Amino acid sequence: MNYVIPPAAVAAVPVRGGGLFPVRRIFCVGRNYEAHAREMGHDPSREPPFFFTKPADTILTGGADMPYPSATEELHHEVELVVAIGTGGQDITEAEARTHIWGYAAGLDMTRRDLQAVAKKAARPWDMAKGFDHSAPIGDIVPAKELGKLTDGHIILTVNGETRQDGDIADMIWTVPEIIASLSRLVRLEPGDLIFTGTPEGVAEAKRGDMLEAMISGLPPLRVRIGD
Ligand code: MN
Repeated sequence: MNYVIPPAAVAAVPVRGGGLFPVRRIFCVGRNYEAHAREMGHDPSREPPFFFTKPADTILTGGADMPYPSATEELHHEVELVVAIGTGGQDITEAEARTHIWGYAAGLDMTRRDLQAVAKKAARPWDMAKGFDHSAPIGDIVPAKELGKLTDGHIILTVNGETRQDGDIADMIWTVPEIIASLSRLVRLEPGDLIFTGTPEGVAEAKRGDMLEAMISGLPPLRVRIGD
């Protein structure tokens, strides 16, 4: 190919047992656990799922430190189950949604909460609050065939060993098949897409030097230290 500048490297997530999962896009679900929707000041019963995105190269893998981001003094953690799409499709039905899933991982939707608050107040996009460099730490992906359906189980985040978020995947407002069905009506899903499926209650600040550990039943834990 006659590229006029060198093309970017493919962002990829290690797979448990070997290999790399190449990332195409990152979609995130907002307010998908009732208690979290309430803690953010919303009524969870009235809202259909909504989505935002992060660039593919915001992933942070291999337990690397996360540099403290620029332009914020209120970095927040959101522990989330991540779904990795292996087979593309549009207008996917809930019944067939699981056949499109390649695997699952534990992830962190890191958020510049102060910038998000400004954006919300001004009715502006969330991109710079959500899609900044290294904003999507993710653990190793486990193939779905090794896990089954993953419809319930603990989803926990500790900071320096203290539990901050402690939820259950079963408490999602929109299930994984419903999310895939809904999202695939908005865009054609493609192999390599990741979906961050929302966070339980207890989101809070991550400070410089903090050690974050995300744990989801059946998945490898994700440990990330926040840098200076
Ligand atoms: Mn989130």
